[in-house]
Amino acid sequence: MAKTILVTGGAGYIGSHTVVELLEAKYNVVVIDNLYNSSIGAIQAIKNITGKDLIFYKGDCADSDFVKSVFAKNSIDAVIHFAGYKAVGESVEKPLFYYGNNLGSTVTLLEVMKEFSCTKFVFSSSATVYLDPKDVKYNETTTQTNRPFSPYGSTKLVQEYILEDVAKGSEFEKVDGLQVVSLRYFNPIGAHFSGDLGEDPNGIPNNLAPYITQVAVGKLKELQIFGDDYKTPDGTCLRDYIHVVDLAKGHLSGLEYIFAKKGKFFDPINLGTGAPVSVFQVVESFVKAVGRPIPYKVVGRRSGDLPEFYADPEKAKKVLGWQTKLDLDKMTADSWHWQKRHPNGFES
Ligand code: NAD
Ligand code: UDP
Repeated sequence: MAKTILVTGGAGYIGSHTVVELLEAKYNVVVIDNLYNSSIGAIQAIKNITGKDLIFYKGDCADSDFVKSVFAKNSIDAVIHFAGYKAVGESVEKPLFYYGNNLGSTVTLLEVMKEFSCTKFVFSSSATVYLDPKDVKYNETTTQTNRPFSPYGSTKLVQEYILEDVAKGSEFEKVDGLQVVSLRYFNPIGAHFSGDLGEDPNGIPNNLAPYITQVAVGKLKELQIFGDDYKTPDGTCLRDYIHVVDLAKGHLSGLEYIFAKKGKFFDPINLGTGAPVSVFQVVESFVKAVGRPIPYKVVGRRSGDLPEFYADPEKAKKVLGWQTKLDLDKMTADSWHWQKRHPNGFES
């Protein structure tokens, strides 16, 4: 019988793409989202793309009674937990808001899962849990010597601590123990191949790809490139950009790994390409996708940016049998396809 997966934050950018892959792989899907940073349009787009149905509940993952009612109505086999706030800058301004929501959601979910004997958990972690700026290529054993750069990063690290501690502890032992895969993403960009599902940020985007597509569609005047004087081949920062569809498929691999493995565990796994790409290379690739120049100006460095930051993806290959398939030009072409078809996101 098809398994039922609860996807928290399933109306958001990465969650919605993962729901598409889950439905296409014949899982039943239940989504919880409070629509704080997303739109019901994403749920309709998922249904249109897949031709399949899902159960959607508008509500908050930190609301214990609400989460219990969802578990009581559905027989949940596993949880993929995307719900959370993610804006680094905002987290510096409103740390309590971030700790409250991100930690509160995870703790509440775990308590309810324990009550309903659900033991399988895939967590949306982040490369922000890697802290040591001396390292360049990060693997899962990289030593943690500093604090994360932002309260957002701290919430991710603390959520990993919580999951690891609960997996080690005895509270889930009556039901085989908690099984956790914590997926540490690098820089997700791109959109669904249909052009009808993609990133729809509120206000002016902080991230590179949505900023560029909004310049290309005429909503913003020009891109500001934050520094070209780094010690990198072309002077701009290097990152590990990953197509959101590859990332979504990584969650299915994580889920299958959990379903195949016995006993309790906490396993952190990077999801990235391992290939560093510069800001100028991203811009160049978008110029090809859009077919005309992207206006830009080089400005000063952005505080907190590391010159190089990319994944060692070997563990995902070995343990999950997963690796990325889609290259930078596909990522930028799909980001642009989505933005061009939906200049105002799900409103258009
Ligand atoms: P997103 O904001 O598009 O999606 C998160 C979703 O969670 C939104 O739909 C939001 O409305 C919902 N949500 C937030 N708090 C909630 C709550 N308490 N209850 C119910 N719903 C709630 O973000 P995304 O880019 O899809 O990111 C998904 C996850 O991946 C987040 O946990 C984020 O921290 C993590 N992540 C994202 C990136 C990235 O660059 N996008 C990188 C690394 C990790
Ligand atoms: N960047 C930029 N201009 C922008 C946004 C980002 O030059 O408007 C650069 C940023 O300095 C970094 C890279 O693009 O080198 C990726 O930034 P993003 O915010 O997308 O992701 P991060 O790696 O910071 O999480």
